[in-house]
Amino acid sequence: MCILHQHKYLARPPGHVPGGYGHRPVTCSVITTNNTKLKPTQLTIHQRLQDPPTLVISTSPPVFNDPSLQSTWVHRAWIAAGCATVLVSLAKAIVGAAASHNLLEPMLTGYIGYILADLASGVYHWGIDNYGDESTPIFGSQIEAFQGHHRWPWIITRRQFANNVHALARAVTFFVLPIDLAYNDPVLHGFVGMCSGCIMFSQQFHAWAHSTKSKLPPLVVELQNVGLLVSRSQHAAHHRPPYNNNYCIVSGVWNQFLDQNRIFEALEMVIYFNLGVRPRSWCEPTSGWTEDVETQSQVTLQ
Ligand SMILES: [Zn+2]
Ligand SMILES: [Zn+2]
Repeated sequence: MCILHQHKYLARPPGHVPGGYGHRPVTCSVITTNNTKLKPTQLTIHQRLQDPPTLVISTSPPVFNDPSLQSTWVHRAWIAAGCATVLVSLAKAIVGAAASHNLLEPMLTGYIGYILADLASGVYHWGIDNYGDESTPIFGSQIEAFQGHHRWPWIITRRQFANNVHALARAVTFFVLPIDLAYNDPVLHGFVGMCSGCIMFSQQFHAWAHSTKSKLPPLVVELQNVGLLVSRSQHAAHHRPPYNNNYCIVSGVWNQFLDQNRIFEALEMVIYFNLGVRPRSWCEPTSGWTEDVETQSQVTLQ
């Protein structure tokens, strides 16, 4: 099995913009899994379907106290709804487990839910970092926000809690509420409650991974240190070239496995050869990926 290891886009169309994509052949170096480098192979691959995603990101970051960073009552309402649905699920797990004198199975499925929430966060983050644009239905605003996050990662630490988490709280509400209403199985709710709760708060864990140690509660620092929450150092690697690793943002427990086995690279190849769409991470670092240096005026506003 061969894995495309390097991606060089030799020919670009007139008017190419960084981060944009062309309709020209690409040249790739192919490396086998035993690291034997083959003769560079000229792969003439023309895009068959559509332009891969390009994003138009605002050229300046939100300013301090920007309304776009503030929580609104609508954001808070979605947080309340998301927390309520997760708490109902967890309550059904605990009450059902106590009634049936079977604590072990709900605890086990809860642990599995916590582990799989990290994997789900990585798959979702990889997807919106690499595909679609701001006009993509449903996910457009998330895609734009995550690309803006790569440009100005420190902004997430200034975003108010409900503003940062409400989109996932809304998704969790729509997904978990029907399960709350339809089922009482404590084993199922052990999984659903833990998994959906971790997914809902993953953006807060992400924000903590961008904070300095001195600004975090000691408990959060300890949870990061023991690996129960994604660590600051692990997530920092996601914001450094080649911008194609460490996507998981709950505990980060899946990152090493996914990156060492090049799982996302394999998925990108499958998508490329089947749909002709390149992920954004194949681009040479562009202004869409690289971090803008924080200006002195932004630093003094902290
Ligand atoms: Zn990212
Ligand atoms: Zn980040």
